[in-house]
Amino acid sequence: MSAPTDARGSTFLACESGCPGRIDANEVRYRCPSCAGLLEVRRDLGPLAQIAAGEWRQLFDGRGPTRMGWDASGVWSKREWVLPEATAGEAVSLGEGFSPLVPVPRLAREIGVGELWVKECGVAHTGSFKDLGMSVLVTQVVRLRKAGVPVRAVACASTGDTSAALAAYGAAAGLPVVVLLPKSKVSTAQLVQPLAHGALVLALQTDFDGCMRLVQQLSEDPAIYLANSMNPWRLEGQKTVAVEIVQQLGWEAPDWIALPGGNLGNTGAIGMGLALVEKLAGVPRHTKLLVGQVESANPFFRSFGAGFRVRPTVVAGDTAATAIRIGAPVSYGRAIRALERCGGIVTSASEDAIADAAALADGLGQYLCPQTAAALEGVRQAAAAGRIGSKDRVVLVATAHGLKFTEAKVRYHEGTLAGADSRRANAPVEVEASLAAVRRALKERERR
Ligand SMILES: *Cc1c(COP(=O)(O)O)cnc(C)c1O
Ligand SMILES: [Zn+2]
Repeated sequence: MSAPTDARGSTFLACESGCPGRIDANEVRYRCPSCAGLLEVRRDLGPLAQIAAGEWRQLFDGRGPTRMGWDASGVWSKREWVLPEATAGEAVSLGEGFSPLVPVPRLAREIGVGELWVKECGVAHTGSFKDLGMSVLVTQVVRLRKAGVPVRAVACASTGDTSAALAAYGAAAGLPVVVLLPKSKVSTAQLVQPLAHGALVLALQTDFDGCMRLVQQLSEDPAIYLANSMNPWRLEGQKTVAVEIVQQLGWEAPDWIALPGGNLGNTGAIGMGLALVEKLAGVPRHTKLLVGQVESANPFFRSFGAGFRVRPTVVAGDTAATAIRIGAPVSYGRAIRALERCGGIVTSASEDAIADAAALADGLGQYLCPQTAAALEGVRQAAAAGRIGSKDRVVLVATAHGLKFTEAKVRYHEGTLAGADSRRANAPVEVEASLAAVRRALKERERR
């Protein structure tokens, strides 16, 4: 089957809170001109719905990692649902998506759920799920420039995964990238990816919120394109992870998708992806969402506790899960809509609990980042409380590779990680260089 070309040219921007009016997809805009709320990318699903659900599944199953070119990308293999106007030559791809969906039966038993899979979004070019969204955003910038929109540079405020992904995709496309970071709150590991990709990295004497304010002011100049997650093009790429999960399960939706939530863009994106799978691929809706937060940064958990009637913000405190250390989520509205549509729960975990969840999973062969551990801890809490059933099928979205968070793991196993009591710590054993000493150490381990 060939792509439905009649669906081309139908993409536009609109207010996500429902203010009337369409904004041309080639306008550089991040907020609704009427209510100043966020925008979303929309397209008329009519032409797409003309194609039978079975044909969509066949089309997507016929693409994949064994193919060449953009068919091999998890994002661009779903291009009719993502950005039908883009051509193969415009798409900026670094092999994003088609990450493994790994069954973890021993971890499922430990946690007390029926089946558990880890969706390895950290097995990606820059090591996090941010690649999925940046591929689409940077492609859109390439298209804007081709259409004569004078974008000089792409900018973001970030201390971690967003800047790594933007810098890589920007470099691949030949676009200048500017990254604003809070000085002295950034580790070498967080700095090195954007530096390696040649981005202009500005270390500012302020905190993350200060950087965020400045980058928004900077991007009032339409020539400086804003790549933070208020930009709706990123969600278009990120939503494919939900499609891919269902596809990898043989076009059957899981009972739960669990993920960590910070700015909450990914929660909104997964809700969008599930809605498309239901509407266009004919997969009955029943997946609920579990959003895991940490105690030091849990505004969404508080909102959930109040039935989403309020949207509190908090001053985010220290946590090992630095990528979700966010007190005022940008995508609150998107995430609430996803939770209300799918159903689900929001959890909040202590530093000790997320460190323990990561150590439990790592001991069974995983290598979870602290953010993913917060979601796993949420699943453990929900299973213990009977909210996730003992027969339920659960997919845990691993948002980054554990190797990006080596410091937290080192500290845990040294017993120096703040707030964690390191019950599962595994320190190296120093022994004298003799066969007898090595054998003694082995015996001792076996006795444990
Ligand atoms: C960005 C990020 C998150 C948070 O995603 P949001 O869309 O901001 O909720 C979680 N984990 C990792 C590793 C991230 O990089
Ligand atoms: Zn509006």
